[in-house]
Amino acid sequence: NGQEFIGFATLPEQVHRKSVKRGFDFTLMVVGESGLGKSTLINSLFLTDLYKERQIPTGQSLVEKTVSIEKKTIEIEERGVKLRLTVVDTPGFGDAVNCEECWKSVERYVDEQFNKFFQDESGLNRKNIQDHRVHCCLYFVPPYGHGLRQMDVEFMRRLHRKVNIVPVIAKSDTLTKSEIIKLKSNIMNDIETNKIKIYQFPECDSDEDEEFKQQDRELKASIPFAVIGSNCVIEVAGKKMRGRQYPWGIVEVENAAHCDFVKLRTMLISTHMQDMKEVTQDIHYENFRAQCISQMQQVALKERNKLKRESAANFDTVGDADKLLQQKDEEIRRMQEMMRQMQEKLKESGKDPAKALSLEKLDWMLQDA
Ligand code: GDP
Repeated sequence: NGQEFIGFATLPEQVHRKSVKRGFDFTLMVVGESGLGKSTLINSLFLTDLYKERQIPTGQSLVEKTVSIEKKTIEIEERGVKLRLTVVDTPGFGDAVNCEECWKSVERYVDEQFNKFFQDESGLNRKNIQDHRVHCCLYFVPPYGHGLRQMDVEFMRRLHRKVNIVPVIAKSDTLTKSEIIKLKSNIMNDIETNKIKIYQFPECDSDEDEEFKQQDRELKASIPFAVIGSNCVIEVAGKKMRGRQYPWGIVEVENAAHCDFVKLRTMLISTHMQDMKEVTQDIHYENFRAQCISQMQQVALKERNKLKRESAANFDTVGDADKLLQQKDEEIRRMQEMMRQMQEKLKESGKDPAKALSLEKLDWMLQDA
């Protein structure tokens, strides 16, 4: 029966084709002190060399360093799908001797991106908005502590309502297995006691297959991901892989028994990229927008009240102006009367009144004055 098939079953395909054509944007921010392996990890994740011309900070610059923001965009393509990936680095974060307010420039940056999007959205060219909002913030916790430090807590508390924070343990090859387990549990405890809301993985749909559910459980249980990065490709048993070669052996970046690198990559790129974008749009950006609108309303209200007050005050001035006008009219009338009398006298003395100043002309001159 031809009627049973109208054709809208191709809708997913249409959506798919359109978004593939447009390409995808994703902005990832990395935060943590220099030397924690941020750039190495990014290079390992996206198989690029994003930081070729980078300058390593010197001792002096570390003392007075302020946090700066560095943005790099690359376009990567995989099976015809284009991804515009922007990596935002925060060189200088936590490097200064006094780094109490490290979070400030990061917060400013995140807000600026929201604000830009808000302006674009209310502007005329809404179709071609470029989305530079930060969709995910990888926060690097150093491996040598016992949990979160004060500055980590401070940063997360300042930013958890604005961006999806995914904490990772940097350079986890420097820790033993049991040390990693302990550090992970301490970090999660610190997150809970400080009421920090890191990126929440969505519930797994109940109709997913068992394998997917298992993967999802493992993913959630691994947070914060203990990661290792490497810029070197090493050959192990004839297979090339990214790894770190030590005198006592090789650490393989992509080996799940060695670290959570693959889990992080899977989550960040294959399974949760879209969800992080949606959370950014629906929760973080909505929060920002609601705040903006309520601020605008308050400003408008103040402005209206000010206008009201001003116009009330103006009534008095209007009263004064009226009085002035009345006085002036009075004066003009007196002068007109004087002129009329003078003309009368001229007429009486026999001179031609037409040559004398006419009453109308005088009137007009006075009014003009
Ligand atoms: P960034 O300043 O945070 O971007 O750190 P880099 O990526 O420049 O790394 C600083 C140093 O740490 C380099 O010598 C890296 O080779 C090394 N490194 C990077 N990742 C790891 C890691 O996972 N484990 C270990 N042990 N060293 C790492």
